[in-house]
Parts: sequence; structure tokens; C-alpha cells
Amino acid sequence: MELTANEFLRSSIIALEDIQLQTALTRSTNNANHGRLVAMADTSDANALRQQARGAKLRALSELPDLLEKMERNVTARGGHVLWATDADEANKHVIDICRKHNLKRGVKSKSMVTEEINMVPTLKDAGIDMLETDLGEYIVQIDESHPSHIVMPVMHMTKEKIHDLFVEKVGMPDREGPVDPTYITSFARKHLRQKYLEADFGMSGGNFLIAETGTVVIVTNEGNGRLSTGLPPVHIAVVGIEKIVPTWEDFATLVQLLPRSATGQRMTVYVNMFNGPAQSVDGDGPEHFYLVLVDNGRSDIYASEYTEALACIRCGACLNTCPVYQNVGGHSYGWVYPGPIGAIITPLLKGKENASPLPFASSLCGACKSACPVDINIPDMLLSLRHDLQQEQDAIWRVGMKAWSFGFQHPLLYEIGDKVASTATRALTEMTGKDHIDMLPPPLDGWTNVRDFPPFAEKSFRDWWRENKRNSE
Ligand code: SF4
Repeated sequence: MELTANEFLRSSIIALEDIQLQTALTRSTNNANHGRLVAMADTSDANALRQQARGAKLRALSELPDLLEKMERNVTARGGHVLWATDADEANKHVIDICRKHNLKRGVKSKSMVTEEINMVPTLKDAGIDMLETDLGEYIVQIDESHPSHIVMPVMHMTKEKIHDLFVEKVGMPDREGPVDPTYITSFARKHLRQKYLEADFGMSGGNFLIAETGTVVIVTNEGNGRLSTGLPPVHIAVVGIEKIVPTWEDFATLVQLLPRSATGQRMTVYVNMFNGPAQSVDGDGPEHFYLVLVDNGRSDIYASEYTEALACIRCGACLNTCPVYQNVGGHSYGWVYPGPIGAIITPLLKGKENASPLPFASSLCGACKSACPVDINIPDMLLSLRHDLQQEQDAIWRVGMKAWSFGFQHPLLYEIGDKVASTATRALTEMTGKDHIDMLPPPLDGWTNVRDFPPFAEKSFRDWWRENKRNSE
């Protein structure tokens, strides 16, 4: 997915004027928030549970290297293979190598944000491997040739009417008179996808949790597609970020009470699937081969920074739903895979602060994200720290700029040459584009054109005018 986080302001303005998007966002975020509050009220002590969950994730992070090695030992002991990927290229290469080794051409995939992050599906396609998304939301996004706008509800930005039209146009769903019926669309998708599981050479999943003490990968889903994708085909490849590890089943038991509540307002998802490697001789069925690809892709750098806590995120999406900025601009405005408050932290950290500089400022710092977060991540504090870092970097640019300016002022000839170059260049640019202003300047000057037009320099400077008029008046 192309990174356009620096376009945040421009994209947000477009989103704010999109009436269909606004309708979809209001309805979905209201429902999600209401569901979460009701489900959390159903626990005996929601805050105590949140602190217990926070403790579990922070403890896991403090032991991260040891836990990952333990996970590898336990997966390997049951006949699985663990592959380590330092970045997106290596992760994709591992998967392509596995596909070549087993002659795999068609895969079915359950929902996974890390595979979005590493651009896996398009990369596999380029290598001649077809991958079909089977989570309904992801499937809709795939046939729409777009991207998810939410980490749990990928099509939060779409109305059911739009999805209906898409199915009619792209996958031949018979049109029906009357109001749009989501059950009709879902049944069509179900029938359409069912055959694909049977035809697939391999299945792919992400992982909501890795349980180090037994080497288990856990996914929580509602549609059963995760179970079919991973259980039916002969090869299962799980691609998981290294931060998903927890030490014990006890820690998992705490976290799994909070993930569905925070994500979809459910006490528990319909399916909780656990994989311990390939099918064993006593198993009646299951994949013959199991591969776990552990993806770093910048996580170690976050781990070593002051932002380690960001790795405690369990990707529930609650901070997105409750954020007044996300509620208005939606996920695509954030310009990458992870939107909302947690995306405003992770994107700059994974993709470079200079490539996502508006995101830490895309928050009112109201604290709603922290209150909603099931692991009580201090999102506002991290946003403030990122703002501070960015300001420091901008201050450095500012200092260099002011020095150059001061030097120019002290050397009139240089100043005049600079003025002429700027005038010629900016007027040539506006002539080329046929506009009376410049739309976009390169960084760091894009801070201006992100929110304002940049008019060209005057053809004649005041200095020239003065010279001429002084001469005329003599
Ligand atoms: S930061 Fe917290 S609320 Fe936001 S997605 Fe992660 S776990 Fe959920």
C-alpha cells in the first residue's frame, strides 16, 4: 500500500465533504462504541481487567527475545517451521520460497493486518501466486481494489448499498429489487467462497496471539473463514508480528476477554482457533505442513525506543472508534495500513517520522483513546512525544534556513540572484501547470502548500522597481 500519510490534511478535507462516508462513519463508530461500553460493563471490574491485561502485555514485552526463542523451540518440536523476517521483503520472500517448494499456486487467506503492512498479496501476485481474501470485509476490499479503512472492520467506510452494487458489478451477484439486504449479500459471498477453500493449495493466517509456553498461534474470528483457510488446505502459513507473543495461557485468558469486547462488543468471538503446528498422527485432519513467519519490519527499533509501549497494542480498533478525528475523517485519510490514534504513533515509527509528520498532530489529545484502550496504552503521551521529536527536527531545518537567509541578507548580490532564480522558477512552474499558484512544494516546504496556495514570486522585485522609479524621478 502506497504511503500517503503526509497528505493527511488534503485527504481529510475530501473525506469531510464525502456525505456517504460521513454516514457510514457515524453509524459504524457509534455502534462500535456502544457495543464496547455494554460489553465492558458486563465484566466484574473492567478497569482491573484492563490493568491485568496491560501487565500481561508489558511483561511479555520485557521478555520478548526469550519468548520468541521459546516459541520457535515449541513450534519446531511439533514439526512446524519458524522463519524470521527482518523486513517486508524477507517475509514475502519466505512465503514465495515456501510456495515454490510445495508448488503452491492458489491460497486462501484469513484477515491479517501484518500482511497488509508488508504488501503481501500484490507481491505474491507478481510472483504468480493468487491469494484470495476470505474475511468478508477483506474480500470486499479486494474486489473493490482498495484498502481497509479500519483494523477490525475493513469496510467501515462503505455503506451496504455500495457493497451491494460492488457485488453486482464485480462478482455477478444477481440484483434484487427492494431495500438492500446484508444477509443476501453475505449468503452470496459464503457460497462463492466455499468452493475456493476446497480448491486452495495453501491457507494463510495472521495471529492475534502467540503463546510461547506451548508454541501456539491463536486467531479470533467471527466468520469461520479462519478455520477453513487454515484447516482445509495441505499447507498453513501463519504470518505474525513479533509483538503478538504472550508467555502463558493465563495471559491469553486475560487478553481474550478484552479483545472481542473492545473490538466488536462481543463477550467472545464466534471462533477462537488455536494452531500447534502440522497435523499430528493422532489427528484426523489438518495441514501436513505448518510455517510460522515471524515479522519484525521495524518493531525492534520501536522496542529499543521510548515508544516500546506501542507494541502492547492488541489491534482491537477501540481507539479508532472513539477518536473524534477518526470519526470524522475515516481511515483512508491516515494514508497507510494503521489509522486512528494508534496508527498516528505506529506509522511514523515504522515508516519514518518525516514520512508521516501530520499524524501525531491529528489528535485533540482528549484522551478518549487511552480510556477506551483495553491495555491502557498512553496514546496521548506518545503523540506528544512524537510532536516534540518532529518539532526538534523542524527546528533544526528552521535554524539552517534562517542562517541561509541571514547570509543572503548580508550579501546583496547573492540575495538578488536568489530572488531572480526564485522568480523565474516559480513563474515557470505556474506557466507549466496553467495555474496562478503552486499546489505542492517539496518537503520541508510542503508544510505551506499542504494548507495554502503558494503564489509565484513577482516578475519584478521591489529593488528593480525602486531602481527604475528612482531613475525616472531624477
Ligand atoms: S492502541 Fe489500544 S485501543 Fe487502540 S487498537 Fe491498540 S489495543 Fe486497541
